[in-house]
Amino acid sequence: MSDQPNGQRVLIVEDESNIASFVAMYLKKAGFGVSVAQTGEEALARADSDNPAIVLLDLNLPDADGIDVCRQLRQGSDVPILMLTARDDDVDKIIGLEVGADDYLTKPFNPRELVARVKSILRRTVPAQRDLDSATLAHGDLHIDHGRHEVTVAGDEVQLAPKEFDLLWELLDHRGLVLTRDQLLERVWGYTFAGDTRTVDVHVRQLRRKLGDSCPIVTVWGVGYKVGSETKAAQV
Ligand code: CA
Repeated sequence: MSDQPNGQRVLIVEDESNIASFVAMYLKKAGFGVSVAQTGEEALARADSDNPAIVLLDLNLPDADGIDVCRQLRQGSDVPILMLTARDDDVDKIIGLEVGADDYLTKPFNPRELVARVKSILRRTVPAQRDLDSATLAHGDLHIDHGRHEVTVAGDEVQLAPKEFDLLWELLDHRGLVLTRDQLLERVWGYTFAGDTRTVDVHVRQLRRKLGDSCPIVTVWGVGYKVGSETKAAQV
């Protein structure tokens, strides 16, 4: 689970376990972290919890049409999607319906070709990643500049520790969504197991102390934390 030297995770959505494990093996060898989902429902949950850099999506799933899953993924995220299809005819369908897939491969495929496609798609999407350097988020009089690693309240700079900054960014970037302590631990601290979730509570307390009334973090009892969705994201 922690074997992802290049820091990028691939979510494989495939109900045929032999194909999934075969593909997973090649991707791991290429240095990727791998998550596997066998149903559409699991795919949507893992896309949310595992923060994949790219999704490989089988068109024919037991509980859902891959096209619908692709559309649903697209509603909440810009994650690149590579569709896997069993028939050439399906390729026309994917292109014709403009579901938002970035690329497709027809089975049977050469796993080396798959890895090459994944790398190529990720290279194309690097500029989107770079946008983070100039991204800012605002909430009321709170303003966060990701590139400068700077937080201001009504124009006055507030000094945050690196993890406090990352935690605040993660919650603001997912405003409206409740994130559990385990999800925050994994995304901000990189733990891939249920660790000591008090770490999260301690950092939230620090943020509330430093930001005062401008701290947008709300406790959702028994679940985790969230930021309300009343203000919108800004890009500069
Ligand atoms: Ca299938």
